[in-house]
Amino acid sequence: MPGLKIDLHTHSTASDGTTPPEVLVREAADAGLDVLALTDHDTTGGWERAAADLPDGLRLVRGAEISCSRNGISLHLLGYLFDPTHAALAERLDALRTSRISRAERMVDMLIADGVPVSWGQVRELADGTVGRPHIAQALVASGLVPTVADAFTRDWIGTHGRYWGAKLELDVLDAVRLVAEAGGVTVFAHPGAASRGRIVGEDVIADMAAAGLDGLEVDHPDHTPEMRARLGVLAAELGLLPTGSSDFHGANKTVRLGAHLTPEASYDELVARAKGVEVL
Ligand code: AMP
Ligand code: ZN
Ligand code: FE
Ligand code: FE
Repeated sequence: MPGLKIDLHTHSTASDGTTPPEVLVREAADAGLDVLALTDHDTTGGWERAAADLPDGLRLVRGAEISCSRNGISLHLLGYLFDPTHAALAERLDALRTSRISRAERMVDMLIADGVPVSWGQVRELADGTVGRPHIAQALVASGLVPTVADAFTRDWIGTHGRYWGAKLELDVLDAVRLVAEAGGVTVFAHPGAASRGRIVGEDVIADMAAAGLDGLEVDHPDHTPEMRARLGVLAAELGLLPTGSSDFHGANKTVRLGAHLTPEASYDELVARAKGVEVL
């Protein structure tokens, strides 16, 4: 029997994806997936809508992608199956979302100051949940100044440390690993080798994360080169981390398709076995 098709990293309109949560689960089932994780940025806001319309035969792993940093370098931590009512974790996620709003406003102000025809109202309208740079990118596409969302992620526009980029609050990643564990969840370091997006942390940081209780490493990701995947696979084995794979689907904001990369069943089983916050649905 072929293994389960497991995609452990996707976004909905609860953050910067373009697919509503209840549509995402339908599309996941249609794509032949057996397991889907919903991991919107800094929020559990899509969990209910995804759970309410779960198609038969699709299992839903509820999660979030948490904005973190280490040594001044931004990175993303996937938290799965944590208790969303854990007070300290819920408070930190709320603070991250609040900071994203003022940061996006600052970025829009910088664009407006340079005569770019975008507005805060327009960006707010585009963001149904957690606001992110893809919403600003969509406004830039609408203004006709950039052809696609991806083209806005350059130094000339809103790429990291670019002309109209602004910093946002980020949690220290070691604190975040411990906090998610305290809330009964498990953690996976998202796209650790996505060098095309900006600076990436060294393997020493990944070792520190492992020592803090990190469970897994996202080895197969669209932003990883084949060489990077090979290296991360070795590193995961060396550090005793579970290797995962996922699409990081964002609907029309990216070109990647659901299920483009998959997680080995053994990694999935072990993540679920370790988690005690909420159940897989
Ligand atoms: P933010 O979290 O607001 O800083 O925005 C970063 C998000 O933008 C990432 O999580 C990706 O989802 C998205 N992103 C980054 N680079 C690109 C790109 N080249 N094309 C499309 N989306 C991107
Ligand atoms: Zn995103
Ligand atoms: Fe990410
Ligand atoms: Fe993501």
